[in-house]
Amino acid sequence: MRLVLLGAPGSGKGTQATRLREHLQVPHISTGELLRAAVAAGTSLGLQAKAVMAAGNLVSDAIVLGMLEERLTQPDTRNGFILDGYPRNLAQANALDALLTKIDQPMDIAVQLDVDQDLLVDRLAGRAKAEGRADDSPEAVRNRLKVYEEQTAPVVDFYRNQGKLAHLDGVGSLDEVFNRILEAISPHADVG
Ligand code: AMP
Repeated sequence: MRLVLLGAPGSGKGTQATRLREHLQVPHISTGELLRAAVAAGTSLGLQAKAVMAAGNLVSDAIVLGMLEERLTQPDTRNGFILDGYPRNLAQANALDALLTKIDQPMDIAVQLDVDQDLLVDRLAGRAKAEGRADDSPEAVRNRLKVYEEQTAPVVDFYRNQGKLAHLDGVGSLDEVFNRILEAISPHADVG
């Protein structure tokens, strides 16, 4: 099962991806986490990405694609993966499509978690307290939501046009949203 989770910052992609990983037994690949690890390790890629991420802007397509390609060609993705945080714009969506075609592993389904903007702001403020991420400051949060609307929202139509989009209500308890996802992906699941 090759699945991509779409949704604004704070829509619950990361939380649901963690549960889906357990359920589907495929890796959870988060480009945000890969980038935060590079920043923490102080690699040259991390140094390039650090300030861009702290401001809530997008890291360059070339950097993220290179990182993702390396991850997606590792053997643990053989039975699929859950992608979270990529694609963030149409150029990335096209690049991912080309990459998956090249390795003969087309995306099965894109799951969009829809959450109202006010709730996103509340959730991100709560997370800022709990996790202290550099990009959870009020200014960075505002910018990340703006970047999402301007650059990432069109990616939803990209998958809708391919007939691969499952648009779900992302509001509810963890279990409720998880069960909605399981129902949406069940035609594609070969486990669970
Ligand atoms: P996330 O954990 O997905 O919210 O990502 C945190 C930050 O990492 C984003 O605000 C971006 O600065 C950067 N980032 C993550 N994924 C991407 C991507 N696909 N393209 C560009 N920047 C990304």
